[in-house]
Amino acid sequence: MKQYLLSPPHMSGQEQSYIDQAFESNWIAPFGPNLVQFEKNLAAYHGVTDCLATSSGTSAIHLALRLLEVGSGDTVFCSSFTFIASINPAVYLGAQPVFIDSESLTWGMCPDALEYALEEAKQEGKLPKAIIVVHLYGQSAQIEKLVAIAQTYNVPIIEDAAESLGAEYKGQKLGTFGEFGIFSFNGNKIITTSGGGALIGKSAASIGKARFLSTQAKENKPYYYHKEIGYNYRMSNVLAGIGIAQLDVLQERIQKKRAIFEQYQQNFQDVAFMPEIASSFGNRWLTTFTLQRGVQDQQVQHLAEKGIEVRRLWKPLHTQPVFTDVPFYKREEKAVSVHLYENGMCLPSGTIMTTEDVDWISDQLRKELFN
Ligand SMILES: *Cc1c(COP(=O)(O)O)cnc(C)c1O
Repeated sequence: MKQYLLSPPHMSGQEQSYIDQAFESNWIAPFGPNLVQFEKNLAAYHGVTDCLATSSGTSAIHLALRLLEVGSGDTVFCSSFTFIASINPAVYLGAQPVFIDSESLTWGMCPDALEYALEEAKQEGKLPKAIIVVHLYGQSAQIEKLVAIAQTYNVPIIEDAAESLGAEYKGQKLGTFGEFGIFSFNGNKIITTSGGGALIGKSAASIGKARFLSTQAKENKPYYYHKEIGYNYRMSNVLAGIGIAQLDVLQERIQKKRAIFEQYQQNFQDVAFMPEIASSFGNRWLTTFTLQRGVQDQQVQHLAEKGIEVRRLWKPLHTQPVFTDVPFYKREEKAVSVHLYENGMCLPSGTIMTTEDVDWISDQLRKELFN
């Protein structure tokens, strides 16, 4: 039976030649020519001078938080409607998370709720050390507005653009608005290195510092000398080879993801798809929609039996058992993130699918969800 996954890896065919080069030159290490090239290409793509390729998106967030000197007793604000990886590194550092609800306009962090939470934190004399804004499913949050609010309180933003590589707001790439931006190249993302991530930032010096921290904070001496604690977070040169070839087809992948989205939209004219806000250009990593009558686990199960992988939208972090005592700020009586979780669904969005595949999946969805 054919399997339609949410977003399986899609190789271009050029990856193997870079992997072969790594083997031929014996650069089987977290350093080497592929890694240098991949970082250069990613930096150029974002119009920044430097970029650090990491072992995962999670490690890139961890490094960004370290650069902002987040530590024990600090607070970090984060979207509630996201994958747990967005906030885990703050917890590793002993910081206290505070979750902010979504808005219906973008499904991203609600600017009003953020402002309210910041004002309250200021009154209490305890502003957060960082705000993690997530661009979900390839779609921009109201990033300009969020940055302006954060600036008023002088709190830096880390953009978690793990799902939104190549997406734009007012013609500017996501990840370049905040103090730092992070990406993920995990197997399910729009392009992949099997596992991996990247960090970019406003200051090239900070990326240099992140590179130092990502290689065990070894001081520049002819022997091992350490003044602080680092990590082993550098991307492998072998995997960076996959990344070079994948980045070359990113624009093609975005076009295909957007075409898949449009085809689903044509097929379901009576359903609320994830919006794309004015002046933004999403990569449509996953096609997602919400249904008025909600989603049942049994429906997800039935579709899986037909080889169709659908999944609910993120279960908000403030509702996760591991975060029961974490503060949560919302502006609506019923949290927008909870509404999205209860009613929303991600559809198979693999770029290897044909238009016939998408039509067949749509027929099956219609039978299962609307009968
Ligand atoms: C995938 C993802 C991450 C983590 O990336 P990894 O490379 O898997 O560590 C972080 N945030 C979001 C929103 C993600 O989707």
